[in-house]
Amino acid sequence: MKPLGLFGGTFDPIHIGHLSVAWEAAELLDAEVRLMPANVPPHRAAPTATATQRVDMLRAALRGQSRLALDTRELDRSGPSYTIDTLGEFRREFGERPLVLLLGADAFAGLRSWHRWRDLFDLTHIGVINRPGVDACIPVELERAVAARRTDDPSVIRAQSAGRVIELAVTPLEVSATRIRELLAEGRDPRYLLPGGLFDDPALLAPYRATP
Ligand code: ATP
Repeated sequence: MKPLGLFGGTFDPIHIGHLSVAWEAAELLDAEVRLMPANVPPHRAAPTATATQRVDMLRAALRGQSRLALDTRELDRSGPSYTIDTLGEFRREFGERPLVLLLGADAFAGLRSWHRWRDLFDLTHIGVINRPGVDACIPVELERAVAARRTDDPSVIRAQSAGRVIELAVTPLEVSATRIRELLAEGRDPRYLLPGGLFDDPALLAPYRATP
């Protein structure tokens, strides 16, 4: 069975870094990948764009291809949701199908702060995506917990439903939503850092542009 890859994030806004690594991860794992925008918990800085605006941008970005899909289940629930609960929902829906939680190397390095992080491996594999320009030093406790789970063989991921960690060597792209928000706020036009679809409708990027 083709694995189902789950790529969560704020996507404020979605950029070519997200798309390119999700696409390459899908190729490397021969997986279908869903992009899953998150509700941001109240104790974190609020995204610049609303949930609806972030979804509109994702829809525009994903138009015209069928390998990457949008999954809004975390936004459809009110309030922030724990990844462990979302994965439980996927597991109930998809039975034994391999699930792969895709995380940028920076997100993976911070895994120990996640609710019930050790239990994640009962529900999913983790695909770690290399990301240049970020501090992705893996804490000793995390490395100890995952060492025996590591594999570099995608066929192992396809043969089991959960429990392994695989590094996915994708083309490094040093792009971040933070940088794109800065450029737009300065009145710049980061045309080739964003998917073309975001320029089809001027309203899509309006949340980031400085008001005259
Ligand atoms: P921000 O700059 O606002 O923090 P971001 O660009 O890191 O945003 P997020 O939506 O926070 O984007 O990231 C979602 C996921 O995508 C995370 O797992 C993150 O590590 C990963 N990611 C984002 N950009 C890249 C990139 N250029 N290369 C690899 N992974 C990335």
